[in-house]
Amino acid sequence: MDEAIAVHAFRDNYIWLVPGSKPGLVAIVDPGDADPVMAALHARGLTPACVLCTHHHGDHVDGVAALVRRYAIPVYGPAAESIPGVTHPVAEGDIAGSETGEPYRVLAVPGHTRGHVAYVGAGRVFCGDTLFIAGCGRLFEGTAFQMHASLMRLASLPPDTRVYCAHEYTLANLAFARAVEPDNAATLAFERRARRLRAEGQPTIPGTIADERSINPFLRTSEPAVRRAAASRGEGSLDTDAAVFAVLRRWKDDFKG
Ligand code: ZN
Ligand code: FE
Repeated sequence: MDEAIAVHAFRDNYIWLVPGSKPGLVAIVDPGDADPVMAALHARGLTPACVLCTHHHGDHVDGVAALVRRYAIPVYGPAAESIPGVTHPVAEGDIAGSETGEPYRVLAVPGHTRGHVAYVGAGRVFCGDTLFIAGCGRLFEGTAFQMHASLMRLASLPPDTRVYCAHEYTLANLAFARAVEPDNAATLAFERRARRLRAEGQPTIPGTIADERSINPFLRTSEPAVRRAAASRGEGSLDTDAAVFAVLRRWKDDFKG
């Protein structure tokens, strides 16, 4: 199956154009801006079949209205959030986006926002601002407990699942991952590769669930080295993985690489 196409938007957003089994049709994931999407569709001769939104933040949905005006396509989005233009509200277990011939299963992954969803299909996961390469989204509406559970669900997808997140935050995330686990050889090797890609102007995305499990500190809360690093922050008892996650998330919030 063809690769998903990255459309750059704003400073560091990626809007994904995702082919399915029907030639020439793509799903548009998280269109924060319509103009670069229309330009990419036009340049490649692609026809949009549907829109998939992961959560309500403007940098993921502000292009929906213009795309719908232009193409009159169905728009899937989390039922638990109010997103103008959504025609197909979805929740855990629903099927979305089969217009391209490739159905996506909806996973509820609250934490960054209360209703955040991910779309899983064809060996890919579109996870918006929940799981980033080597990092995770901030807790704007949900709790650390919710976000940790959401990340664990994503971590349990098949290891070869390709991870398509919505921002190029990889190098900054890796600087933090290195601070948490300075001796993790997988992190250091991954960072060398990511630096090379960025130097060439290439996205570091997609990643894989397998790589995330070996480098992403937020998925590694049960690793002794990660627990020791969290304990060194002196924030009290770390009796659960979610408590370790909460400490890491606060640490990252004020981390200056
Ligand atoms: Zn967001
Ligand atoms: Fe975002």
